Amino acid sequence: MTLSNGRQYLAIPGPSVMPDAVLQAMHQAAPNIYEGALPEMVATLIPDLRYVARTSGQVAIYIANGHGVWEAALANTVAPGEKVLVPACGRFAYGWADMAEGMGIEADILDHGIKTPIDPERVRAALAADKNHEIKAVLAVHVDTSSSVRSEIAPLRAVLDELGHPALLMADCIASLGCDRFEMDAWGVDVMITGSQKGLMTPPGLGFVFFNDRADAVRKSMPRVSRYWDWSPRANPEVFYQYFDGTAPTHHLFGLRAALDMIKSEGIEAIWQRHESLARAIWAACDVWADGGPLTLNIADPVNRSHAVTAARLGAPNGSRLREWTDKNGGVTLGIGLGMSEPDDPNGTGFFRFGHMGHVNAHMILGMLGVVEAGLGALEIPHGQGGVSAAASVISQSVQT
Ligand SMILES: *Cc1c(COP(=O)(O)O)cnc(C)c1O
Repeated sequence: MTLSNGRQYLAIPGPSVMPDAVLQAMHQAAPNIYEGALPEMVATLIPDLRYVARTSGQVAIYIANGHGVWEAALANTVAPGEKVLVPACGRFAYGWADMAEGMGIEADILDHGIKTPIDPERVRAALAADKNHEIKAVLAVHVDTSSSVRSEIAPLRAVLDELGHPALLMADCIASLGCDRFEMDAWGVDVMITGSQKGLMTPPGLGFVFFNDRADAVRKSMPRVSRYWDWSPRANPEVFYQYFDGTAPTHHLFGLRAALDMIKSEGIEAIWQRHESLARAIWAACDVWADGGPLTLNIADPVNRSHAVTAARLGAPNGSRLREWTDKNGGVTLGIGLGMSEPDDPNGTGFFRFGHMGHVNAHMILGMLGVVEAGLGALEIPHGQGGVSAAASVISQSVQT
C-alpha cells in the first residue's frame, strides 16, 4: 500500500516545480526562428530579467546550465594565468573555483566550512595582502545550495571599495534569484549569474550572465574571449541569431516568458516575502522536531539561512531513509545531502535538504512537512511532537500581517 499517487512534489533544490502555465506555454509547434512572434517575444524577456535581478545592466543568455554560466562569466573577464578569490561555504563555491582552474585561472580559496556565511573580514585580509592587484575577481556564491547558507553580498562591495581594490565582484545567484532578496545594482555586484531551473521555474537549460559597465570594460580589455562565450553579441544582438549564437532554445523561451509573467504579476518583493514565510514555517517545524530527537538544521542562525533550500541532519543513515520513505509513501521527493559528509558517514546519508524554491505555496509546504512528520514517525526516528502545527502557526501569522 502506498499513499504517493496524486500530484508529486519534487522538493529538491533544483530543478524546481514547473508551473502549469510554464508547461502549457511550451506545448506548441516549432516556431519560425527568423522572424515573427518568437524574435519579438525574446526582446520582451530582457527588461523582465533585469527586473528580477534588480539591475539596469546588461544580460546575456546561454543555452547552458549553471556550470555553463560559471564558465561564461569567467571567460569574459579573467584570462588564463590570472587569479580569482573564492570565499567558500559549500560545494558550489568549490565547483566555481574548479571551473576557473580548468580554464587556467588560479583560484585562491578561503574555506569557511559548511556552517557559516562568507566573512567579509577574511575577504578583506586576502584582498589587502594582494598589493599588486593580481586578484581579478571575487567569486561569491549568494546561497550555497549544498549547505543552504546565505551570505551577505553588499559587505564584499564595501570591502573592495574601502581598499580601492579593482577586482570585479561576481555573485552566483543560481539558487537564490527569485527566492531570496537580491539587489544587483544596489549591492554593487559587477557580474551575476543564474539559471532557469530554480527560482525562475523553467526547465534546466538556460543560463544568464548579468553584467554592468565596469565588467563590460574589463571584457573589452581582454586579449581574447572565446567566440561562443562572448557576452557582447548576445547582449547587443544586431540580428536575432546572435542572442544565442545559433538556433534559439525556442521552447525554453516560451516557458521563461510564462514564468516571468507570473513573477511580474506577483511582484518580486512579494515573492521574497512568500519564500521567507514558507522557509520560516519549515524551520518552525524543524525546531519542534529537534526538541527530543536528532534532527538539526545545518545553519544555526536563521539570519544566515537561505529562503530557498534548507539542509538538515538526522544522522546516518536516517537522512536517506527519510527521503526514501517520503518519496515512496508520500509523493514528496526531498533533496540529498549534497557535499555533506562526516567521518563516519562519507556519503552523507545522514543529511537531506528541503527544496522550497519558486512555485511553492502554503499547502505544498504544509503537505511536505506533514509527510516528513509521518516519515519520522513511521521510521521511529525520535522527534518532538507538533512540528506541523508550529509550521501552520507561522503561516497563520504571516498571512495576518
Ligand atoms: C544549482 C546550482 C549550481 C549548478 O547549476 P547546474 O545547472 O546544475 O550546473 C551552481 N551554483 C548554485 C548556487 C546552484 O544552486
